[in-house]
Amino acid sequence: APALTIQELTAQRDRAREDFAALVGRGLKLDLTRGKPSPRQLDLANELLDVRAPVVSADGTDLRNYGGLNGLAELRAIFSQALQVPVEQLLAAGNSSLELMHDAVVFAQLSVLPGGERRWADEPEIAFLCPVPGYDRHFGICERYGITMIPVPMTETGPDMDVVERLAADDARIKGIWCVPKYSNPDGTVYSAETVRRLAAMPTAAPDFRIFWDNAYAVHHLTDKPAEIADLLASCAQSGNPDRAFVFGSTSKITFAGSGVGFFGASAANVKWWLSHTVKRSIGPDKINQLRHVRFLKDADGLREHMRQHAALIRPKFDAVDKILSTELSGTGLASWTSPAGGYFILLRVPAGCAAAVVAKAKEAGIALTPAGATHPHGDDPQDQLIRIAPTFPELAEVEAAIDALATCVRLVGTEKLLADRQ
Ligand code: PMP
Repeated sequence: APALTIQELTAQRDRAREDFAALVGRGLKLDLTRGKPSPRQLDLANELLDVRAPVVSADGTDLRNYGGLNGLAELRAIFSQALQVPVEQLLAAGNSSLELMHDAVVFAQLSVLPGGERRWADEPEIAFLCPVPGYDRHFGICERYGITMIPVPMTETGPDMDVVERLAADDARIKGIWCVPKYSNPDGTVYSAETVRRLAAMPTAAPDFRIFWDNAYAVHHLTDKPAEIADLLASCAQSGNPDRAFVFGSTSKITFAGSGVGFFGASAANVKWWLSHTVKRSIGPDKINQLRHVRFLKDADGLREHMRQHAALIRPKFDAVDKILSTELSGTGLASWTSPAGGYFILLRVPAGCAAAVVAKAKEAGIALTPAGATHPHGDDPQDQLIRIAPTFPELAEVEAAIDALATCVRLVGTEKLLADRQ
């Protein structure tokens, strides 16, 4: 688009100022911060609240009692295909996959991994590759345990593999990489088969390098064309790196976010290593919760059908965000955004140096957004460009009002920045 004249830009800025003043006057109070399911999505799984006796597993085990560290086989069977992990190598655990990722890091600090030479705690320094934009809670785990974070840019097919391969091959400090391979948080990226193949096959300086494969959105499609990703575990095995992958997933955004089931999958050697630690930690998971999930979801088809009901509730919200941003910001040069085919987030890109100011303006107008920078290690987006939008939780009308307000903030901050750049 041809550059606007100073007069045109000033007119736009003045209109944005008026719109912003009117917006503040409305006294909105809306929240687009975290990717939580809405109450109506949670209602879809309310059948889980009726647990009928007898609570016994297919093999006759009384699930009220201790034991069953691997988790319920029937539930693992339902998720085996979606998470691309053979049932024998898939564990069903507590209510959170994040805690499993956390524990994997802690276990690796305290005891030598299959293929490793030393505990991570005995290394002078360890580092993880962090594709950016990424998920702030992954970065939080690294921060907590003193793991150096090395950002790697995301591309349309996953992390920039030329960079990943070069760093992983050269730098023995690098013990892992965070990956959200399907409908990434926050950019919605689906990793290509080539990316998966290269991750599985690349030489790594660290013998105990692990891919933290957080498949949190494995079945969370927004369209009728579910994205498929290549099978990382199989690819690692074929490439002679069978122990490289740690696969995580959960039902947090399938059933109840606070009372779902987390999964861990890996090679037989990794699973044995994992169980040797978890056996010290618990006598077994909440198997009644796992049974409720089996009774409710029934099988892989039941899971797919249930996820279609989620999509029907949240797709209109994603569509509304796209439509309002298009109406308000298309052609202004002030913003671009993702149109994900699944997952929980839309990523908004504003002119460099504007993201924190947009979030601050939105706060003045009563709209809570994830802090700018949350998409990067240590909360530092060096370009100050990215804003994560989480549209699932509020009602549709609230999403519309919030995005309309956000667009006004982008117009205000963006036109002021463009004018300042021209001075
Ligand atoms: N991983 C990713 C990529 C997520 O977006 C989330 C939820 N925001 C989680 C993990 C958390 O998973 P869980 O509820 O299973 O701990």
